[in-house]
Amino acid sequence: MKKILLTLTAGFISLLSFSQKINKIINAAEVERIEKILSPEDMEGRKTFAPGIDKAANFIAGEFAKSKLGYFGNATNYFQDIVMLKAKPLDISGTLDSETLNSSNVAANSTMASLHIGSLQEYELVAVKKEDDFNKTVFPLFEKEKNLLILVDTAHASRFARMKRFAGNAKFASPVSQIFILTANLKPTSLHLHVKNELTEQKLKNVMGVIPGKSKKDEYVVFSAHYDHLGIGKADARGDSIFNGANDDAAGTTAVIMLAKYFSAKKNNERTLIFVAFTAEEIGGYGSRYFSKQMDPDKVMAMFNIEMIGTTSKWGTNSAYITGYEKSDMGKILQANLAGSEFRFEPDPYPKQNLFYRSDNATLAELGVPAHTISTSKMEEAPNHEPNYHKQSDEIGTLDMNNMAQIIKAIAISSKTIVSGKDTPTRVEKEKE
Ligand SMILES: [Zn+2]
Repeated sequence: MKKILLTLTAGFISLLSFSQKINKIINAAEVERIEKILSPEDMEGRKTFAPGIDKAANFIAGEFAKSKLGYFGNATNYFQDIVMLKAKPLDISGTLDSETLNSSNVAANSTMASLHIGSLQEYELVAVKKEDDFNKTVFPLFEKEKNLLILVDTAHASRFARMKRFAGNAKFASPVSQIFILTANLKPTSLHLHVKNELTEQKLKNVMGVIPGKSKKDEYVVFSAHYDHLGIGKADARGDSIFNGANDDAAGTTAVIMLAKYFSAKKNNERTLIFVAFTAEEIGGYGSRYFSKQMDPDKVMAMFNIEMIGTTSKWGTNSAYITGYEKSDMGKILQANLAGSEFRFEPDPYPKQNLFYRSDNATLAELGVPAHTISTSKMEEAPNHEPNYHKQSDEIGTLDMNNMAQIIKAIAISSKTIVSGKDTPTRVEKEKE
């Protein structure tokens, strides 16, 4: 089998032969150097709001400085600061018809210090019935930018308790709230509710640098990955409690650092290139959501989000998949720029996993940007799944550094006509409310 493959691929020009210069910047030794800093135990799994993640952010900023990237907009450093609010309910009281309301049957997704609802008419009403799928009905409501009163049937009591903890997570400040009430009374006639929260600020940061375009300064091409991971958890059978995230997503972060260095050395980009390492992907994509809100989506011509490229894809080496491949013609442009090489970008083979909407490309994609995630991770069921995904064992030893370097080179080479302004991918259809 191997022999046949070798003779078959001998006819292709290796990516290595594209340019000697690229190999000096993007190579397995450099991948290893960066991964050895981002993924070891002393980064403590790069958990959001924990000290290890700041070490990672400082390292990434240092690499951007070495590549002489510029700052974005009016920024005076490489950090894009994000302030989130954590609300702890101090007092919840009221009545729903004759039923007493308190912290046991009310959960508030809110960043208001105090809330007072005097009647049912003030909030839009949603009923979650016994037969409704709780997760599918309830969790999307957290994202709605309106005041909602959600009456949850008592049949969902245990799920409601779990959801309450989720509602207590830090979030962006918002003038609207979603109030969840666990009750058997889904058709009430009166409501009176007071909520008092103690608010604490929690700070996060993306790491971001730019190479201004030579002629098309207002047309952006984004290269991104998330640098946060899961932190420290329970010990596994080997006694290892640190979730290193060498693949998820130190691998993508490594790619962003190396692409910044590569394009900075080339200095021939007509469009403005933005390199960004996102925070808080694992706890809800807050870094990319904040970043996307600061951007005019119409100015973003393409986004290359890179997630988990440290292992070989289901097709073997020299290949990766693109999520949402059919939603724009970006994948075709990339493949055309790789003509003559053995590297292949394939459509996402795991459409049921909804990966297009599960990573940091999603917010900009929803606004119409051809924003795709490039990955090799085998997101399928056992026995063919990615064995170390979201496990303590996602460590540097499991990575294929040579293949990673090939993928990063493929991204550098295939993005050429988008970076130069010659090609502009078609837009993704916007999400409708
Ligand atoms: Zn992850």
